[in-house]
Amino acid sequence: MKAARVFFSLTCLLLFGHCLRAQDLGPHFKKVADGIFVESASEASSNCGIILTNAGVVLIDSGYRSSDAQEVSAAVKKLTPLPILFLVDSENHPDHTTNHWVFSPPAVIIAGQGTSEAMRKAFDSPDFLTRSGMTREGLTNYQLITPQVEYHEKMTLNVGERTFELLNLKNVHSETDTAIWLPHERVLFAASAAVPKTFDNIRPFVTIPDKLNAFKMMKALNPEIVISGHGSPGTTKIFDEAEQYYALLVQRVSKMIQEGKSDGQIKQELRMPEYDDWAAQDRLPTNIDAAYRAVKAGYSPDK
Ligand SMILES: [Zn+2]
Repeated sequence: MKAARVFFSLTCLLLFGHCLRAQDLGPHFKKVADGIFVESASEASSNCGIILTNAGVVLIDSGYRSSDAQEVSAAVKKLTPLPILFLVDSENHPDHTTNHWVFSPPAVIIAGQGTSEAMRKAFDSPDFLTRSGMTREGLTNYQLITPQVEYHEKMTLNVGERTFELLNLKNVHSETDTAIWLPHERVLFAASAAVPKTFDNIRPFVTIPDKLNAFKMMKALNPEIVISGHGSPGTTKIFDEAEQYYALLVQRVSKMIQEGKSDGQIKQELRMPEYDDWAAQDRLPTNIDAAYRAVKAGYSPDK
Protein backbone atom coordinates (compact mmCIF):
# COMPACT_ATOMS: atom_id res chain seq x y z
CA MET A 1 0.00 0.00 0.00
CA LYS A 2 2.72 2.40 1.12
CA ALA A 3 4.90 1.53 -1.85
CA ALA A 4 1.97 2.13 -4.14
CA ARG A 5 1.38 5.55 -2.60
CA VAL A 6 5.07 6.50 -2.94
CA PHE A 7 4.98 5.33 -6.55
CA PHE A 8 1.83 7.41 -7.14
CA SER A 9 3.44 10.52 -5.64
CA LEU A 10 6.56 10.01 -7.74
CA THR A 11 4.46 9.64 -10.87
CA CYS A 12 2.63 12.80 -9.85
CA LEU A 13 5.90 14.66 -9.52
CA LEU A 14 6.99 13.48 -12.94
CA LEU A 15 3.71 14.24 -14.61
CA PHE A 16 3.02 17.40 -12.62
CA GLY A 17 -0.07 18.93 -14.20
CA HIS A 18 -1.83 15.65 -14.61
CA CYS A 19 -2.29 15.52 -10.82
CA LEU A 20 -2.77 19.21 -10.05
CA ARG A 21 -6.39 20.26 -9.94
CA ALA A 22 -7.68 23.43 -11.55
CA GLN A 23 -8.57 24.88 -8.14
CA ASP A 24 -4.91 24.57 -7.14
CA LEU A 25 -4.15 27.10 -9.86
CA GLY A 26 -6.63 29.75 -8.69
CA PRO A 27 -10.28 30.70 -9.19
CA HIS A 28 -9.89 31.65 -12.86
CA PHE A 29 -8.83 28.21 -14.07
CA LYS A 30 -10.88 25.28 -15.31
CA LYS A 31 -9.57 21.84 -16.19
CA VAL A 32 -11.30 20.61 -19.34
CA ALA A 33 -9.37 17.38 -19.94
CA ASP A 34 -6.21 15.65 -18.78
CA GLY A 35 -3.44 18.26 -19.03
CA ILE A 36 -5.74 20.83 -20.67
CA PHE A 37 -6.77 23.98 -18.78
CA VAL A 38 -8.59 27.22 -19.58
CA GLU A 39 -8.01 30.55 -17.84
CA SER A 40 -10.47 33.44 -17.85
CA ALA A 41 -11.11 36.06 -15.17
CA SER A 42 -14.79 36.39 -16.12
CA GLU A 43 -17.43 34.89 -18.41
CA ALA A 44 -17.02 37.82 -20.83
CA SER A 45 -13.20 37.83 -20.92
CA SER A 46 -11.31 35.97 -23.61
CA ASN A 47 -10.20 32.44 -22.74
CA CYS A 48 -6.58 31.39 -22.61
CA GLY A 49 -5.94 27.67 -23.18
CA ILE A 50 -3.03 25.79 -21.60
CA ILE A 51 -2.15 22.42 -23.07
CA LEU A 52 0.61 20.35 -21.49
CA THR A 53 2.59 17.87 -23.52
CA ASN A 54 5.64 15.78 -22.65
CA ALA A 55 7.75 18.11 -24.82
CA GLY A 56 6.47 21.46 -23.55
CA VAL A 57 3.42 23.67 -23.35
CA VAL A 58 1.13 25.07 -26.04
CA LEU A 59 -1.05 28.10 -25.27
CA ILE A 60 -4.15 29.19 -27.13
CA ASP A 61 -4.40 33.03 -27.04
CA SER A 62 -2.54 35.21 -24.56
CA GLY A 63 -5.28 36.32 -22.13
CA TYR A 64 -7.31 39.53 -21.85
CA ARG A 65 -5.55 41.73 -19.27
CA SER A 66 -1.85 41.48 -18.51
CA SER A 67 -2.92 40.07 -15.10
CA ASP A 68 -4.51 37.12 -16.97
CA ALA A 69 -1.25 36.48 -18.83
CA GLN A 70 0.72 36.69 -15.56
CA GLU A 71 -1.67 34.18 -13.94
CA VAL A 72 -1.25 31.83 -16.89
CA SER A 73 2.50 32.18 -16.72
CA ALA A 74 2.48 31.36 -12.97
CA ALA A 75 0.10 28.42 -13.49
CA VAL A 76 2.32 26.91 -16.18
CA LYS A 77 5.27 27.04 -13.78
CA LYS A 78 3.18 25.16 -11.18
CA LEU A 79 2.05 22.60 -13.74
CA THR A 80 5.32 21.71 -15.42
CA PRO A 81 9.05 22.49 -15.47
CA LEU A 82 8.85 22.46 -19.28
CA PRO A 83 8.80 25.68 -21.34
CA ILE A 84 5.95 27.22 -23.34
CA LEU A 85 6.95 26.26 -26.87
CA PHE A 86 4.06 27.60 -28.95
CA LEU A 87 1.21 30.08 -28.66
CA VAL A 88 -1.58 29.72 -31.21
CA ASP A 89 -3.93 32.66 -31.87
CA SER A 90 -7.61 31.80 -32.30
CA GLU A 91 -8.16 35.32 -33.72
CA ASN A 92 -6.31 38.61 -34.14
CA HIS A 93 -8.39 40.95 -31.93
CA PRO A 94 -6.50 42.77 -29.14
CA ASP A 95 -8.37 40.97 -26.31
CA HIS A 96 -6.75 37.70 -27.49
CA THR A 97 -3.32 38.84 -28.71
CA THR A 98 -2.10 41.87 -26.73
CA ASN A 99 -0.17 39.82 -24.16
CA HIS A 100 2.01 37.95 -26.64
CA TRP A 101 5.00 39.79 -25.20
CA VAL A 102 4.59 37.97 -21.87
CA PHE A 103 5.34 34.63 -23.57
CA SER A 104 7.27 35.41 -26.74
CA PRO A 105 10.17 35.17 -27.06
CA PRO A 106 10.89 32.35 -26.35
CA ALA A 107 7.46 30.92 -27.35
CA VAL A 108 6.82 30.86 -31.10
CA ILE A 109 3.47 32.41 -32.06
CA ILE A 110 1.44 30.79 -34.83
CA ALA A 111 -1.63 32.40 -36.39
CA GLY A 112 -3.68 32.63 -39.56
CA GLN A 113 -2.30 34.60 -42.49
CA GLY A 114 -2.88 38.33 -42.06
CA THR A 115 -2.78 38.32 -38.24
CA SER A 116 0.37 40.47 -37.95
CA GLU A 117 -1.07 43.08 -40.29
CA ALA A 118 -4.42 43.14 -38.45
CA MET A 119 -2.65 43.40 -35.07
CA ARG A 120 -0.54 46.37 -36.22
CA LYS A 121 -3.65 48.12 -37.53
CA ALA A 122 -5.51 47.57 -34.23
CA PHE A 123 -2.48 48.76 -32.24
CA ASP A 124 -2.34 52.00 -34.26
CA SER A 125 -6.06 52.68 -33.87
CA PRO A 126 -7.36 55.04 -31.14
CA ASP A 127 -9.53 52.38 -29.48
CA PHE A 128 -6.63 49.97 -28.81
CA LEU A 129 -6.72 50.61 -25.05
CA THR A 130 -10.45 49.89 -24.69
CA ARG A 131 -10.26 46.79 -26.86
CA SER A 132 -7.11 45.26 -25.41
CA GLY A 133 -7.63 45.32 -21.66
CA MET A 134 -4.31 47.17 -21.49
CA THR A 135 -3.87 50.19 -19.20
CA ARG A 136 -2.30 53.49 -20.28
CA GLU A 137 0.52 52.90 -17.75
CA GLY A 138 0.99 49.39 -19.11
CA LEU A 139 1.68 50.84 -22.54
CA THR A 140 4.93 52.51 -21.46
CA ASN A 141 6.86 49.25 -21.36
CA TYR A 142 4.70 47.50 -23.89
CA GLN A 143 6.04 45.64 -26.88
CA LEU A 144 3.80 44.59 -29.74
CA ILE A 145 4.78 41.04 -30.68
CA THR A 146 3.19 39.70 -33.84
CA PRO A 147 3.15 36.02 -34.88
CA GLN A 148 6.45 34.58 -36.15
CA VAL A 149 4.54 31.97 -38.17
CA GLU A 150 1.42 32.61 -40.26
CA TYR A 151 -0.21 29.61 -41.94
CA HIS A 152 -2.56 29.69 -44.87
CA GLU A 153 -5.49 27.22 -44.92
CA LYS A 154 -4.51 24.47 -42.55
CA MET A 155 -1.55 23.44 -40.46
CA THR A 156 -0.64 20.43 -38.34
CA LEU A 157 1.44 21.05 -35.26
CA ASN A 158 2.93 18.01 -33.52
CA VAL A 159 4.19 18.71 -30.01
CA GLY A 160 5.23 15.80 -27.80
CA GLU A 161 2.46 13.22 -27.76
CA ARG A 162 -0.21 15.66 -28.97
CA THR A 163 -1.40 16.73 -32.40
CA PHE A 164 -2.97 20.12 -33.05
CA GLU A 165 -4.82 20.74 -36.26
CA LEU A 166 -5.10 24.45 -37.04
CA LEU A 167 -8.08 25.13 -39.29
CA ASN A 168 -8.67 28.50 -40.88
CA LEU A 169 -12.29 29.69 -40.47
CA LYS A 170 -13.38 32.20 -43.08
CA ASN A 171 -15.47 35.31 -42.36
CA VAL A 172 -16.75 34.15 -38.98
CA HIS A 173 -15.51 36.82 -36.52
CA SER A 174 -12.09 38.48 -36.99
CA GLU A 175 -10.18 38.60 -40.29
CA THR A 176 -8.09 35.62 -39.21
CA ASP A 177 -9.89 32.97 -37.15
CA THR A 178 -8.39 29.60 -36.29
CA ALA A 179 -10.09 26.56 -34.83
CA ILE A 180 -7.59 24.39 -32.96
CA TRP A 181 -8.58 20.73 -33.00
CA LEU A 182 -6.98 18.03 -30.88
CA PRO A 183 -8.24 14.89 -32.64
CA HIS A 184 -7.01 12.30 -30.10
CA GLU A 185 -8.45 14.18 -27.11
CA ARG A 186 -11.55 15.32 -29.08
CA VAL A 187 -11.10 18.83 -27.71
CA LEU A 188 -11.87 21.81 -29.94
CA PHE A 189 -10.86 25.42 -29.38
CA ALA A 190 -13.48 26.97 -31.64
CA ALA A 191 -12.36 30.64 -31.90
CA SER A 192 -15.19 33.17 -31.51
CA ALA A 193 -17.43 31.99 -34.35
CA ALA A 194 -20.08 31.36 -31.66
CA VAL A 195 -19.84 32.43 -28.04
CA PRO A 196 -22.23 30.81 -25.51
CA LYS A 197 -25.35 32.93 -24.98
CA THR A 198 -23.73 36.07 -26.39
CA PHE A 199 -24.45 38.23 -29.43
CA ASP A 200 -21.44 38.55 -31.72
CA ASN A 201 -20.25 41.94 -32.86
CA ILE A 202 -20.63 41.04 -36.53
CA ARG A 203 -18.23 43.02 -38.71
CA PRO A 204 -19.20 43.92 -42.30
CA PHE A 205 -16.99 41.19 -43.87
CA VAL A 206 -18.50 38.43 -41.70
CA THR A 207 -21.40 36.52 -43.22
CA ILE A 208 -24.07 34.39 -41.56
CA PRO A 209 -23.77 31.62 -44.21
CA ASP A 210 -19.99 31.46 -43.55
CA LYS A 211 -20.64 31.23 -39.82
CA LEU A 212 -23.15 28.41 -40.38
CA ASN A 213 -20.66 26.57 -42.61
CA ALA A 214 -18.04 26.85 -39.89
CA PHE A 215 -20.46 25.44 -37.27
CA LYS A 216 -21.23 22.53 -39.58
CA MET A 217 -17.55 21.82 -40.23
CA MET A 218 -16.69 21.97 -36.52
CA LYS A 219 -19.66 19.79 -35.53
CA ALA A 220 -18.54 17.21 -38.13
CA LEU A 221 -15.25 16.86 -36.23
CA ASN A 222 -17.40 15.38 -33.48
CA PRO A 223 -15.69 17.08 -30.52
CA GLU A 224 -16.47 16.12 -26.93
CA ILE A 225 -15.43 19.49 -25.53
CA VAL A 226 -15.82 22.86 -27.24
CA ILE A 227 -14.02 25.94 -25.94
CA SER A 228 -15.11 29.16 -27.53
CA GLY A 229 -12.92 32.30 -27.54
CA HIS A 230 -15.05 33.59 -24.65
CA GLY A 231 -17.31 31.95 -22.08
CA SER A 232 -17.45 28.64 -20.27
CA PRO A 233 -16.19 25.50 -21.99
CA GLY A 234 -19.09 23.39 -23.27
CA THR A 235 -20.08 21.07 -26.08
CA THR A 236 -21.38 21.36 -29.66
CA LYS A 237 -24.57 22.69 -28.04
CA ILE A 238 -22.86 26.11 -28.40
CA PHE A 239 -23.11 25.67 -32.20
CA ASP A 240 -26.68 24.30 -32.05
CA GLU A 241 -27.87 27.33 -30.09
CA ALA A 242 -26.13 29.75 -32.47
CA GLU A 243 -27.63 27.94 -35.49
CA GLN A 244 -31.14 28.20 -34.04
CA TYR A 245 -30.62 31.87 -33.26
CA TYR A 246 -29.39 32.76 -36.76
CA ALA A 247 -32.20 30.74 -38.38
CA LEU A 248 -34.82 32.69 -36.42
CA LEU A 249 -33.07 36.01 -37.07
CA VAL A 250 -32.82 35.41 -40.83
CA GLN A 251 -36.45 34.22 -40.93
CA ARG A 252 -37.68 37.42 -39.23
CA VAL A 253 -35.47 39.75 -41.29
CA SER A 254 -36.52 37.96 -44.49
CA LYS A 255 -40.22 38.42 -43.63
CA MET A 256 -39.72 42.13 -42.94
CA ILE A 257 -37.82 42.58 -46.23
CA GLN A 258 -40.79 40.95 -48.00
CA GLU A 259 -43.02 43.50 -46.28
CA GLY A 260 -40.89 46.20 -47.94
CA LYS A 261 -39.02 47.35 -44.85
CA SER A 262 -35.55 48.91 -45.05
CA ASP A 263 -32.51 47.79 -43.02
CA GLY A 264 -32.96 50.87 -40.81
CA GLN A 265 -36.66 50.15 -40.18
CA ILE A 266 -35.92 46.51 -39.40
CA LYS A 267 -33.28 47.55 -36.87
CA GLN A 268 -35.83 49.81 -35.17
CA GLU A 269 -38.64 47.24 -35.08
CA LEU A 270 -37.10 43.78 -34.83
CA ARG A 271 -36.90 42.18 -31.40
CA MET A 272 -35.51 38.80 -30.39
CA PRO A 273 -37.18 38.30 -26.98
CA GLU A 274 -36.22 34.61 -26.94
CA TYR A 275 -32.64 35.81 -26.46
CA ASP A 276 -33.18 38.40 -23.74
CA ASP A 277 -30.82 36.48 -21.47
CA TRP A 278 -27.93 36.68 -23.95
CA ALA A 279 -25.05 39.06 -23.26
CA ALA A 280 -24.03 42.03 -25.47
CA GLN A 281 -27.59 43.01 -26.52
CA ASP A 282 -26.20 46.24 -28.04
CA ARG A 283 -24.68 44.14 -30.84
CA LEU A 284 -28.07 43.06 -32.22
CA PRO A 285 -28.05 45.82 -34.91
CA THR A 286 -24.83 44.36 -36.40
CA ASN A 287 -26.58 40.96 -36.48
CA ILE A 288 -29.59 42.46 -38.28
CA ASP A 289 -27.23 44.08 -40.82
CA ALA A 290 -25.63 40.67 -41.44
CA ALA A 291 -29.01 38.97 -41.83
CA TYR A 292 -30.14 41.75 -44.19
CA ARG A 293 -27.00 41.33 -46.33
CA ALA A 294 -27.48 37.55 -46.40
CA VAL A 295 -31.14 37.74 -47.49
CA LYS A 296 -30.39 40.43 -50.10
CA ALA A 297 -27.58 38.20 -51.45
CA GLY A 298 -30.15 35.44 -51.98
CA TYR A 299 -29.53 33.39 -48.85
CA SER A 300 -32.44 31.38 -47.56
CA PRO A 301 -32.17 28.93 -44.67
CA ASP A 302 -34.12 26.25 -46.59
CA LYS A 303 -31.67 26.17 -49.50
ZN1 LIG B 1 -12.85 39.09 -31.20
